[in-house]
Amino acid sequence: MKLAGINRRERTPAERSGRRIVSKSAYLNGLQCPKLLWYRCNDPDQIPAPDEQTRAIFDQGHEVGQLARQLFADGVEVGRGIIDLDQVIALSRQAIRLRRPLFEAAFSFEGAYARADVLDPVGTDAWDLIEVKSTATLKDIHLHDLAFQAYVFAGAGLNIRRCLLAHINSNYVRQGQIDPRSFFVLEDVTSQISELSRDVPEKLEEMFRIIRKPEYPQIAIGPQCDDPYKCPLHDYCWKFLPKNNVLTLYRGRTKGFKLLAEGITELENIPDRISLTANQKIQRTASLTGQPHVDKAAIGPFVGQFRYPVAYLDFETLGTAIPLFDGVRPYQQIPFQYSCHVLRSANGELEHDYFLAEGPDDPRRQFMERLRQALPGDGSIVVYNASFELGRLEECCEVYPEFTAWVNGLKRRVVDLLLPFRGFRYYHPQQGGSASMKAVLPALTGKGYNHLDIEEGGMASLKFLRVTFGDVSPEERARVRKNLEEYCGLDTLGMVWIVEALRALAGG
Ligand code: SF4
Repeated sequence: MKLAGINRRERTPAERSGRRIVSKSAYLNGLQCPKLLWYRCNDPDQIPAPDEQTRAIFDQGHEVGQLARQLFADGVEVGRGIIDLDQVIALSRQAIRLRRPLFEAAFSFEGAYARADVLDPVGTDAWDLIEVKSTATLKDIHLHDLAFQAYVFAGAGLNIRRCLLAHINSNYVRQGQIDPRSFFVLEDVTSQISELSRDVPEKLEEMFRIIRKPEYPQIAIGPQCDDPYKCPLHDYCWKFLPKNNVLTLYRGRTKGFKLLAEGITELENIPDRISLTANQKIQRTASLTGQPHVDKAAIGPFVGQFRYPVAYLDFETLGTAIPLFDGVRPYQQIPFQYSCHVLRSANGELEHDYFLAEGPDDPRRQFMERLRQALPGDGSIVVYNASFELGRLEECCEVYPEFTAWVNGLKRRVVDLLLPFRGFRYYHPQQGGSASMKAVLPALTGKGYNHLDIEEGGMASLKFLRVTFGDVSPEERARVRKNLEEYCGLDTLGMVWIVEALRALAGG
């Protein structure tokens, strides 16, 4: 079967004039934004290198890709380590004669170039084209990705029978060695790809037209900057925005882009004719006056509900595509660290307890045991975004039911410190429309995380994984673990400071 809409004999005028190569990643960039495509092809040095978290996502994708290869016995990797396109294509042409599963085989067609995760031989001359993704669901961008490959491979002369997406089975639970046949779901998307492939030549033609221009296209920032991925040129394109810009409107991105299109950039310049929610009006007023909004009538009862001893609690978690431990699903968040500050009375001394897992074993049982010892038997438990912490505790109870009664007892005592900020009972213009603790703490107390090596949870998880499972020196491991303790400790100390500040506001 030939995929529909592909005519190998027809060459466009641009192709005949000798145009440049568009790789699969450039094509996907082009679908996201013409400006990104232009930079990718004409001035790639302007595109910042991926940061540590993005690299970790790539690494995870690579690990999943390696696991998927186990589905194809007798597979051969083509052109390992070779980046010269012509060489890889020549090697791929030789490799297809083997009629064995091929990893990373590459072909080009009419200026488009693609490498396939897997080409699986079918019968005497057909192939299944398989793209491996480290996500649990199929996304539109995956279909475009496969459609581009199908267009190139079919155009290069391969008889593509089916197009398949191998993605992670979110219901998979690890027990012992990872079984790739249960870990992956192979979804046949041939009919969707056949449809989408028809549009590829036209889209490519437009992309080549953009690339050939001497200047990048003038594209306004918009929803495409974060969809399907955060654009690597985000900081560059968005740098003209002032801090309190219309895109910081709480739950108002669409409205913000409309305002930008009208030339309204700052919150304080939003005219009265624009309909705003109550919270968005608070933002505009705070931005105009430079003063925080304080709803004393709501803050008073909120801080008044705390019962001593008051425990301030925060977790750090890790979640990997390939579960590290038995009984764990892909991307399930596993707690590996907590910090707990306890104030036994209004004028009491602040006590601190923390736990940071040691070694590569499943940390959950020890985490739960230590936490049960650390938390007082009564009083309030203050967390920031309670559903996250409670959700992790409930998941731990699924594996260790002996903790269930204790966790059920905790639920009644939990106070979510996020609520007054998400409800705009307090809002400071410095929060920039965010109720996250990273935004609230400096705005409300003047204190923050900037002095720490680890400034947010995603980085904490990465660092823990690196020093726990990676090959690092004992000195480096000790240094990072100290940073982790400081970071998580500041999360709970920060909550203490926030509550003190709220109490002062309520009483003042
Ligand atoms: S940040 Fe937005 S406008 Fe700029 S290149 Fe990326 S997607 Fe395009």
